[in-house]
Amino acid sequence: MSAPLSPRGYRAPLWALTIVLATVCASAQTKIVAPKNAYKPSDDVQVGQEEAAKVRKELPLLNDERLHQYVETVGAKLVAAIPPEFQHPEFKHTFEIVNQKDINAFALPGGPMFLNRGMIEAAKSEAEMAGVMAHEISHVALRHGTAQATKARAPSILSTVGQIAGAVVGGGWGSLIGTASQIGPGVYVMKYSREYESQADIMGAQILARAGYDPREMANMFKTLEAEGGGSGPEWLSDHPNPGNRYEAITREAAVLQVQGRADTGQFATMQARFKQMGPAYTAEQIAKGQAPKGSGGTVPTATVARGPVKVDPPSLQLQTYTPANFLRVGVPSNWKPVKDGGATFTPPGAFFDQNGQTGFTHGVQLGTAKGTGNLQRDTESLLKSFARTNPQLRLQGSVLRDTVDGRPALTSTLSNVSDITGQPEQIAITTTQLPSNTVLFIIGVAPQTEAATYTDTFRRVRQSVKINAR
Ligand SMILES: [Zn+2]
Repeated sequence: MSAPLSPRGYRAPLWALTIVLATVCASAQTKIVAPKNAYKPSDDVQVGQEEAAKVRKELPLLNDERLHQYVETVGAKLVAAIPPEFQHPEFKHTFEIVNQKDINAFALPGGPMFLNRGMIEAAKSEAEMAGVMAHEISHVALRHGTAQATKARAPSILSTVGQIAGAVVGGGWGSLIGTASQIGPGVYVMKYSREYESQADIMGAQILARAGYDPREMANMFKTLEAEGGGSGPEWLSDHPNPGNRYEAITREAAVLQVQGRADTGQFATMQARFKQMGPAYTAEQIAKGQAPKGSGGTVPTATVARGPVKVDPPSLQLQTYTPANFLRVGVPSNWKPVKDGGATFTPPGAFFDQNGQTGFTHGVQLGTAKGTGNLQRDTESLLKSFARTNPQLRLQGSVLRDTVDGRPALTSTLSNVSDITGQPEQIAITTTQLPSNTVLFIIGVAPQTEAATYTDTFRRVRQSVKINAR
């Protein structure tokens, strides 16, 4: 036992020690200064959105809502952890998975990020995957793309977005700077300088710690990547070259950072297993030869006979807007697709069936118009009767409810049916509203009875998203 100290005598040095430690921590974290930039943050957004639109057309995006939600969830945690002085509220951070085997990922100015499936599969933990994402987010937050363009040409020449965008579209980043790398036909991403790489590593570590991931996992991920793909490592490493002592620099920064809470979602193993259930990812060569589907596949594939329950991914909470007719806009869950380009039937993959020319769907919505009399109630009744002729088991459940569609009076009827496709009970919601010239617009939602609770809400949101431009 040491000699007793008076409370006052004991406390004073402890307080002093705490203050000293706090000062050391604050000064030890590396201070980052964003490079000079002649562009406005809104220029980053515009260039990035234009390039992202091309990427979405050229590369095979993975059409899997659960995996998409997963990377969005991790990405959102990281974006929230960007140091406040580098947050740009106008930036739109999105996270999409490319169904490509090669270990790569890239982010475009202003926020769109694309992660190759091969990159996620190469990671050993969620924190390792988050390490690459935090590094990419740092390039975006520090605006390295437009900063590099600023360096490459006199600001007076490249002072308009049109010119940057034009340069990107024409492959001009490459000829301008000589360091662009082609990721797909006509799509280019930046290769950064060692100085920018070093900044992205350090800020990436800071973001990880603030988000609740151990920043040393980023260093581990870079080691994992170096071990992959032979001598020079995978594509990602040649786009993001080692600025020298990468592992040591990140570990040194990590030592002065405090990990804030615990961000790990615990879903990494489940998500890895999900990839394993899918067909193989495409190689860069297959994509270049046009052997991979472009974008998210365009339309849903048609399934064949299923006499039994049909399982599909749950409807995304995010809506994607379509214009099935020039007077009509509608938002449907973003993991649904039109059955035909420009068509007005939207279903998740695996829910649309063609049985010897008889088509139908187990989950989804269909919009259409019918000739009426100008009396909505009477027209709705005759519409339901005509549906009952092809669906003999169709029954009205409860009463028809007053509703609105884009501010117009509407009627919503809930019906039960037995699906021709599955032989199982299903629930159908039909909403009708009056258009000019005695025409009725109808919106039909179909879902199995067992999933009615989920889909009732989806159909309501789809109805509420409808915009009608007809007088
Ligand atoms: Zn980088």
